[in-house]
Amino acid sequence: MKTFDYVIVGGGSAGCVLADKLSACGNYSVCLLEAGKEDKSWLIHLPIGIIGLMRDHTLNWHFNSHQEKTLNNREIFTPRGKALGGSSSINAMLYVRGQKQDYDHWHSLGNQGWSYDEVLPYFKALEHQERGENDYHGINGPLNVADSVSKPAINEDFIQSAVAAGFPANDDFNGADQEGIGYYQVTQKDGLRHSAAKAFLTPNLNRENLTVITQIQVDKIIIDNKTATGVRYKRKGKIQAITARNEVLLSAGAINSPQILMLSGIGPRSELEQHNIELIHELDGVGKNLQDHVDILNVAQHKRTEVLAYRPKALWWGAKEAIKFFTKRAGLLTTVVAETGGFIKSEPSLSEPDLQLHFVPAAMDDHGRNHKLLCSYGIAVHVCLLRPKSRGTVTLNSNNISQHPRIQLNMLDDQDDIDTMIKGVQIAKKILSTPPLANTHIKYIFPDDNCQSDQDIHEFLKEKCNTIYHPVGTCKMGHDELSVVDEKLKVHGINRLRVVDASIMPTLISGNTNAPTMMIAAKAADEILTDARNK
Ligand SMILES: Cc1cc2nc3c(=O)[nH]c(=O)nc-3n(C[C@H](O)[C@H](O)[C@H](O)COP(=O)(O)OP(=O)(O)OC[C@H]3O[C@@H](n4cnc5c(N)ncnc54)[C@H](O)[C@@H]3O)c2cc1C
Repeated sequence: MKTFDYVIVGGGSAGCVLADKLSACGNYSVCLLEAGKEDKSWLIHLPIGIIGLMRDHTLNWHFNSHQEKTLNNREIFTPRGKALGGSSSINAMLYVRGQKQDYDHWHSLGNQGWSYDEVLPYFKALEHQERGENDYHGINGPLNVADSVSKPAINEDFIQSAVAAGFPANDDFNGADQEGIGYYQVTQKDGLRHSAAKAFLTPNLNRENLTVITQIQVDKIIIDNKTATGVRYKRKGKIQAITARNEVLLSAGAINSPQILMLSGIGPRSELEQHNIELIHELDGVGKNLQDHVDILNVAQHKRTEVLAYRPKALWWGAKEAIKFFTKRAGLLTTVVAETGGFIKSEPSLSEPDLQLHFVPAAMDDHGRNHKLLCSYGIAVHVCLLRPKSRGTVTLNSNNISQHPRIQLNMLDDQDDIDTMIKGVQIAKKILSTPPLANTHIKYIFPDDNCQSDQDIHEFLKEKCNTIYHPVGTCKMGHDELSVVDEKLKVHGINRLRVVDASIMPTLISGNTNAPTMMIAAKAADEILTDARNK
């Protein structure tokens, strides 16, 4: 049995940051265990590979939710990264932090230390902002934040149409004010994906006190007398264990962290009894409070041909773009697919944006998996609800780690969520029918022209809504009856065990969740090292 000071379960966005920060001082031995493979595939590194990663079954866990009653009993595709870098190795690379109010809200719930002013220094310290330093951005961090070098011209039309439709322009969603329309910044370096693994792990693999082991699926945290002492996994049919002298840090993400806690005997009593798992510590909130950004695509056929589509000249075009990539590290191969978008208010009277837009220069459907639509020239506007009130769950399908957990997203369970999404669809239609986009727009693919009333739009939402891949909240931080960790991310009632990943967010932040998850891990690392020094 091997022993380390810290054992990290999951080498995703949070796990990679933790591994770097805890091993940097050289005083502690750190072991990072990842269920997936190393991040060697070109699909990961070449940004356009994201299209292939959606379908890939080795680098993507490919979860599906249970049938969703609120969405016409559809099972909702829930991709998650399964490789070093985790979901940051398969995500769309958009660099977004959320709103100041998100973190002030966490603080107001009793989570000391998590106000915006307290988390901003972590965001700044993590990033190397290519535009330079200012009050909101840092330049000395390992994570490269860049302007996109792929800018299909139709993105300018989207910005102009949205501004003409009444929304302000914004060139930095992570600056003083999030509201507005513009280009996203991306986590790329020299035209390649800069995942959490690339930024925080790869440069440090030669540290003697850092051990990274891939293709190990931890099935249990070993708990002795309400104290975490190590982890267990199976290899070649044999049960093996690794011991943690100081702490076990669970960073398996919002779907797998609650699964591992429950398999370890920590969770709701009824859930554990149902699957014959010995109850070690009753914690009702494990797997509850699941929140995700419900998203709807509004798709239109278009005359403009410089969009992503299967088209007769695709081979010739692809060759030109490949030359551009290899000579200038620019062009279509660096695309994140959604270069532009923004944060808008569904009602002008609101104090902050409640909707996010992602503009896609393609006739997108079903997470890009519907090839039929891609045969026509088209564009799509994603609309997602920033702070949903609907709540879902992660529970168990069995007591075996190899069986996926049961995900119930319950999106659009709350009437306010439905009402705001209906307004979102109307706004997307307005943007698509405002020049310059309207000048080259041929027809709506969906929702079609017959979809007019609120009732029609609600039916459309039930039939077509999806997630935009930001599940959080299933091991939430706080002190109420559904909280799983405290503000130092220590699991309530268990010693030497923390959860450090997107699952600890008490409420979903207003934006994409990769940067906030890395911030969470950097802050947790500080707490862990402070505790170790004070021991
Ligand atoms: C398709 C997609 C697009 C996205 N686009 C964006 C975007 O553009 N911008 C943005 O900000 N966010 C985006 N996100 C969300 C963002 O990437 C995630 O919120 C973030 O990466 C979550 O980090 P995490 O550390 O909580 O989990 P993850 O990064 O998912 O890491 C969890 C890790 O744990 C491993 N693991 C799981 N179970 C076990 C086990 N039993 N034993 C060992 N290891 C285990 C997993 O394989 C994984 O590597 C996207 C996500 C997806 C899936």
